[in-house]
Parts: sequence; structure tokens; C-alpha cells
Amino acid sequence: MHSNALNFSAGPGALPSTVLAQTREAIIAVPETGVSVLGMSHRSEWFVSIVEEAERNIRALLGLSDRYSVSFLQGGSSLLFATIPMNFATPAFAPPAYVNSGYWSSRASAEASRVGPSTVVWDGQSVGFRELPTLEHLDVDRRAAYLHYVSNETIEGLQFRLPTQDPAVPLIADMSSDFLSRPLATERFAMIYAHAQKNLGPAGVTVSVIDRELLGRIPGNLPRILDFRTQIEHHSNYNTPPVFAIYVLTLITRWLLNDIGGLAAMQKVNETKSSRLYRQLDEMQDVVKIHAARAWRSQMNVAFTFGDARLDRAFTEAAAEHGIIGLDGHRSVGGLRASLYNAVTPEAVELLCATLSEFALQRA
Ligand code: PMP
Repeated sequence: MHSNALNFSAGPGALPSTVLAQTREAIIAVPETGVSVLGMSHRSEWFVSIVEEAERNIRALLGLSDRYSVSFLQGGSSLLFATIPMNFATPAFAPPAYVNSGYWSSRASAEASRVGPSTVVWDGQSVGFRELPTLEHLDVDRRAAYLHYVSNETIEGLQFRLPTQDPAVPLIADMSSDFLSRPLATERFAMIYAHAQKNLGPAGVTVSVIDRELLGRIPGNLPRILDFRTQIEHHSNYNTPPVFAIYVLTLITRWLLNDIGGLAAMQKVNETKSSRLYRQLDEMQDVVKIHAARAWRSQMNVAFTFGDARLDRAFTEAAAEHGIIGLDGHRSVGGLRASLYNAVTPEAVELLCATLSEFALQRA
């Protein structure tokens, strides 16, 4: 059996071993209740307090003001690809603007165009999705309902720089693969969303942070479950929420606050890990190709290849001998990908680098 500690999977991904131990205990009985988390009522006082704590901890980590709502949704980030235009792209505005910087952002804009008119203000297809634009340089209609982008392209391994100016139109970011990995100037965003299965816990819950000012736009005739106000007004308990996923997410936020010491500290660890791996791959540039252009390399997902599917497979086999798993690239692009989410330790990255170096030497 392989240890979770050496899990480089792109998601669901590695979780901190302390949180896994707490989760194992809670599956039998949550210490404060004596009842399995899998059998806890979503109407129990305990669960209501867990949702409150999860929200409080996310607010503390991000320094969020009351201007923002925080809610816990289902349907993954993919449902939000559809519900964001349904809620916010109303006829009072010009069509929403989308940045197509990779697989997931292209999925988001394709979904928006099924809901109504939308525009693509930047398309990275011509550069093979290896580069990103600077948000501030995009040409966006000032009347656009919003500007949507994916802050970290999980498949291509590209990560945007954080916005440095207040955007001209409401900025909406899918942060599924880099949420809570670094501090953010949250007030520049109108909406941030992220599913849990990378940095926040198991699949099943998606965090949505919305500037309340935007809620005034929502049409009155949306099905209630698709109207963002519904879960906000019901404290994420309008219908049965994913109790287990929200509980583990709460444990993760405690870990970030108490064990790691907040997002600035988390960012330092993440910088150490990614710079170590990129340094290793740069040293091997004769045999390895990194997908992302240097300026846009992601700290979370490192997509690379030995340039030949057989060699890539040979490397995953060599890595598996050291207990390293989860290195396959996404089926749409192939190659290899090491995901360095919050719970992946610097020691695991060190072992991956040593394995890379050993593999290259054997083949030299
Ligand atoms: N956005 C990003 C950035 C992703 O990486 C993914 C999936 N890995 C999605 C959206 C789709 O999320 P879901 O499977 O939760 O719908």
C-alpha cells in the first residue's frame, strides 16, 4: 500500500496526514458527538456549528470582509460554469468576457455560451496554452457583465499573476486548483470559487465567495437551487449538504490556521516545493520539456514530459517503486504532471527530484 504522503495526484489529491487521522477517527465517531460523521444530521447543532466554523476560518485565512458571502455548494466547479452566467449575465449588461487559457477555462466559456451570449477576450490556443495574458492588459468591454478566468490551469500547469489593480468589470475567478495556496487581495474579486478536491478536502463541496453587491442582479425566475441567494440565505443548508466533505474541509482550514500558520506561511512552503522541482527539471532540460512558458509556471501543477509516451510511462513505473503516485498527465494532453498541492510535503518533492535525477542518469 502506498502512503498518501507521496501522492502527486491532480485531484482528488493528497491531504495532510494529521487531517486523515482525524477523519479516520470521525468516521467511527466525531470526538465531540460520539456519532460517526457519516451519520450526523445536517440539521444537528454540531453540523450547523461546523459550517459556521468553516466559514469563519475561510474568512480569517483570506481576510474577507462582510461585503462577501461564503457558501458551500454541490455540483462541482462545472455546475458553476453554468450558474455564474445564469445568475450574473443579465440583459442589463454586455455579454460576459472569458479568458480561454487552457482546458478548464475553455470549458467554462463553452458552458457560458450555452446559457447566452458571451465573448472570449483572449485565447491561448494559438500559443498551445503555454502562456497567459496579464489580466490588466486585456481589452474588456466596460459594460461586460463580468470577466471570468481560471487562476490556475490544472492541466497545462499555468498560473496567473494576481491582479494588481481594481478591475474595470467584476472579476470572477475559478480558483479550484490554487485556492488557499497563497494570500490574495480578495477585494479585487467579485466572486471566487473552488471545489474542495485539491487543497480543501475530498470531492463533494465547492466554496463560493461572492461580493453581495452582485446578488442584486440575479433574475427572480431561476430555479431556487441554481439561484446563488438560496444557499447564502440558508447558510449552505437549504437542502442536505455534503456533511462529510464539509467536515473534512473544516479540518483542513484548522490545519492551515493552526499547524501551518496562515496563507503567507503556506505560500512559502509552496514556493519552496515548486522552485525545487522546476530547478530539477531545468537541470534536465536536455531530456525533459516543461509545458508552461517560464513566466507562467504554476506552483501547483507541474506538467512536463520526457517527449515520448514510453519514457513517460517508464518514469511513472520507476516512481511507483519509490511509492510515488499520481504522476499521469491529463488524458487530454498526456505527458506527466506533478501536483504540489498544500498537503504535498517538501520531503515528498525531494524524493520526486531524486527519482527524476536517478532516472535521467540511468538513461544518459
Ligand atoms: N476548474 C478547474 C481549474 C479544475 O481543475 C477542474 C477539475 N479538475 C474543474 C474546474 C472541474 O471541476 P469539477 O470536477 O468539480 O466540476
